[in-house]
Amino acid sequence: MIFFSDFDGTLTLDGKLTREFFEILDVIERRGDELIIVSGRSLSWGHFFLTHFPLHYCIMEGGGVVVYRDEAGLIQEKNLVSDAEIKRLEDFTNKLAMNHPDIPLSKDSFGRRTDRAMEYHDMTEAQLKVAVDLMTKEKINFSKSNVHINFWCGEISKYLGVTKFIKEFRPEITESNSFFFGDAPNDESMFELFHNSVGVSNIQHCLDRLNHKPRIILEGDENIGAKGVLNFICSL
Ligand SMILES: [Mg+2]
Repeated sequence: MIFFSDFDGTLTLDGKLTREFFEILDVIERRGDELIIVSGRSLSWGHFFLTHFPLHYCIMEGGGVVVYRDEAGLIQEKNLVSDAEIKRLEDFTNKLAMNHPDIPLSKDSFGRRTDRAMEYHDMTEAQLKVAVDLMTKEKINFSKSNVHINFWCGEISKYLGVTKFIKEFRPEITESNSFFFGDAPNDESMFELFHNSVGVSNIQHCLDRLNHKPRIILEGDENIGAKGVLNFICSL
């Protein structure tokens, strides 16, 4: 069985890595299953995951890039958007920083390749309007989460990332031999389009903001984040 999973809030508990995460890794390894993290965190986090945990693939930056180990065990990266779109994003970000140095980019924007983020809470209404107008004018895609405004060029979503990954790296994976776990609106493309989707119980906080809900929604404090993933996997 293949388990695709979001990281923050899904494989963590109250923002921390806990023993449940390591139990998940143990159970998956023991049963010959596989975990593939699908996260909005930056490319460099993918390197961290691969070097510290028994994983072969991570889909990072919300579906923009795959980080993986090749047959020689070396870490490789595969962009899921074109070089032209990456360059367009870089040019836009440089222009933004030069012309509007007061608009705060997120601290991890330097480690990102296929998307960037602004610190939403540190922005005034006027700055927000400038940023949104500029992105709209230059046809830059963006979405607001409760902490960041993420922006990118080209088509990027967790679902597109997963389907491109399957096609290119693991064509034997089907939706009947895999699951996806998530907890938040940035997992919504997977809830909408990936059949076997599971929401851990902390998703209750944002269920009413989702147009597309996971097929299975776990309930109760015993199924928050990594606890829910662990219980679900053990129940199969
Ligand atoms: Mg999450």
